[in-house]
Parts: sequence; C-alpha cells; structure tokens
Amino acid sequence: MDGVPCRCAELEELDGPAGRTYAETHLFERAVGNGTDQQLVASGIRYWRCEATGWQFVSHPLAEGPLLRLRRLPFTTTDDYLDHDVVARRAAALARSTIGTDEHQEALDALYSPDLRTLIQSVNRNDPMGIEAAIVLLEVDPWCFRSGYLKVSAMDHLARARLQPSDRDRIQTALVAATLKGPRRADEHRSALRLARHVRSPAFAARLEALRAEVPAAKRPAVQRLLDALGESRRARTSRRRRRG
Ligand SMILES: [Zn+2]
Repeated sequence: MDGVPCRCAELEELDGPAGRTYAETHLFERAVGNGTDQQLVASGIRYWRCEATGWQFVSHPLAEGPLLRLRRLPFTTTDDYLDHDVVARRAAALARSTIGTDEHQEALDALYSPDLRTLIQSVNRNDPMGIEAAIVLLEVDPWCFRSGYLKVSAMDHLARARLQPSDRDRIQTALVAATLKGPRRADEHRSALRLARHVRSPAFAARLEALRAEVPAAKRPAVQRLLDALGESRRARTSRRRRRG
C-alpha cells in the first residue's frame, strides 16, 4: 500500500495505536465468520492478511478503548488444508504440545487458521475446495486439542452439501475407518451418523453388512449403528415416534 512499508516478515507483535494503524493502513481484514466464528467476531477478534507477502495476523481488542494487540500467525495458505501430510503434521504438533506454552499457541494457530475456518465455512456454498478440505480432515481424523469440534463442524457442513460420487466414496471410507478406530464423543458420533445417512447407497449398506460380519464382536454394535443410520427413513422414524407416543 502507498506510504506504509511492509514489515510483515519481521513483525511478530504490535500493541496499541501502532498495531491498529498498521492493520488498518497496510493489512486487509479477512471476513471469517459464521457459526462458532461468529463468537470470535463478537469478542472483537479480527483476522488480517498482507496482500504482498501472505502473512496473516490476528487482532484482539485491548481494554483501553480502540487499541489493538496485533499478533502474526504462523504462515499458512488455503492449499495447506488440501494436503493430508500437512494437516496430519499440524495435528501431531498440537497433540504433542503442552497447553499454556508458546509451542501450543503456535500449533493451535497453525491448525485452526483463518484459512481452514474459511474453507470449512465455504462448504455451505458447495465450494469444491472447501468440500475437499473437509474430506481431507475426516480422512486424516486428527486427535488433538479441539479436534472433535472441528470434525463435527466439517461433518455437519458436509451433511448438507451437494457431493460428487467420488466425494461420497471417500466419506464412506472415512466414516468406516473412524468407526473402527474407536468410540467418539456423543456429538461427533451423532454428526457421523447424520453424514452417513447423507452419503447412503445400497453399495455402502452392503459394505457395512460385510464389515459387520468380519469385525470383532466388540466393534459390531458401532458398525450396526452406522448401518441403522442409512436405513432410517423418515417414515420409520415417524412411526417409531408414534409407537412411543
Ligand atoms: Zn505486509
């Protein structure tokens, strides 16, 4: 931008009026926000990006009026979240780190970046890149701080998306893998069943029936629940409710 030299490569943190001036005269604000991110926006957190270098920043409001604490985020791009290795590596770094350390904050910022948030939200518009990122996330199936919420969000968005046949195949495979891996939090489990229903097909049902016969007895109920989710028609649910009521 005219008159304001880019210092993004050196700048890690900037407080107060200087932070605000730098953000508002050199950086572009990124619109990140719906669902849980609405809470971020309501709390005054804003994301910024340097068009020249691609460095991104987060700003938090300071108690004293219109001041900002501007903090640079780890360097990330949208493409990162289409790459299984990158996502797996970032999740592993987060899982390794100790809450409260700089390393943890860095790993948290690298995985839950504005790029990833924006991608997952774009699934609502059936954006192919967003759908790809959400599927990659389910395929990697990260187990780290807050990953349950992230996967629930990805699954809930996918369960409303228009999907290609190859997307549906990959989601089916990821759901099977997650089911065999182990028990999930209740909300994650519910979202997985809803997504399974969204990608249901006779071939998927047949695959689950074959799997049910193969797996150890302890895993059989989990496969059965997935299978039940596919078969559960609106009519079946209504009549069950009627029987209950
Ligand atoms: Zn810059």
